[in-house]
Amino acid sequence: MLGPVILAASRSDRMRRLVSAAPVTKQVVDRFIPGEDVDDIVPVVRELADHGLELTMDVVGEDITNPAQAAAARDAYLELVDRLKPLELGTRAEMSVKLSMFGQALEGGHELALSNVRPVVEAAAEIGTTVTLDAEDHTTLDSMFAIHEELRKDFPQTGCVIQAYLFRTEADARRLAASGSRVRLVKGAYKEPASVAYQDKHETDRAYVRILRTLMAGEGYPMIGSHDPRLIAIGQELAHQAGRKLDEYEFQMLYGIRTDEHLRLAAEGHRMRVYTAYGTDWYGYFMRRLAEKPANLRFFARSMLTK
Ligand code: FAD
Repeated sequence: MLGPVILAASRSDRMRRLVSAAPVTKQVVDRFIPGEDVDDIVPVVRELADHGLELTMDVVGEDITNPAQAAAARDAYLELVDRLKPLELGTRAEMSVKLSMFGQALEGGHELALSNVRPVVEAAAEIGTTVTLDAEDHTTLDSMFAIHEELRKDFPQTGCVIQAYLFRTEADARRLAASGSRVRLVKGAYKEPASVAYQDKHETDRAYVRILRTLMAGEGYPMIGSHDPRLIAIGQELAHQAGRKLDEYEFQMLYGIRTDEHLRLAAEGHRMRVYTAYGTDWYGYFMRRLAEKPANLRFFARSMLTK
């Protein structure tokens, strides 16, 4: 029950001010967001890579209000690519982007987001890596998929995310699997109405399995974005049934969540990619992590009370 309340709070400016100003917030935030700028994050990339893990890097900050902020977001990613270049990790360190941060919700947003994301995809390709377009709320997805298709004409490795809780996703998965795309499948992290999304966790889990089966049987590269032990085991089984080798799919989890499992899967020879977010505008990302697990909220509340 708490999840939807926290997700609603994630859209509130008043809550944003309250939570961001709380003195103990930072230590809780650090668990999920291990740095505020690119200088903080380069050592984290090195350390994870040294442990045999792969990365997808996210510069947080989806709530922009003008084109100058969208251009600044583009530049932050370009700086990240510059800093990744000497590490020579290739696709072991890719990037995840939210098109809202590139201006998608502003006037003329579709074109603006495309024009801001393209240089990032080009720069990534120059250092031998790629970009995945994150999935945001359902109203943004037609634009996201159109941008994905456009980018793939020149950069076929560009990936995208699909969300199992949405009714539309089984059809999206069939289309993307046939087109040979890289696709990250997640359960979905936004508050969505019953007209477009399953409200029951079990229904979402069942849809996740159906969609994963489609992706595994298809021509593309499935990326299993989940911490759910049952879905991870099913993912391994479906990959096996589809005759996929270990480098023909991968697992992805968020930084700070089930870290032992990251290491276990990597030690078993799986490709294990850690979604690593950094930046100062962490509110929306952080609140989604709280909503996913009420125990996080209790921990957060307790640390505020004991200070
Ligand atoms: P759950 O059933 O929620 O969790 C399974 C177990 O994992 C829990 O029991 C708990 O032990 C652990 N766990 C899960 N979440 C947390 C947490 N926050 N804190 C502590 N423990 C936790 N969603 C989008 O809508 N769009 C995206 O683009 C997107 N990208 C993602 C990228 C990656 C790599 C991952 C892993 C997730 C992404 N998500 C995205 C979030 C996703 O939609 C889910 O909200 C999130 O992954 C939780 O679902 P789960 O599959 O881990 O299963």
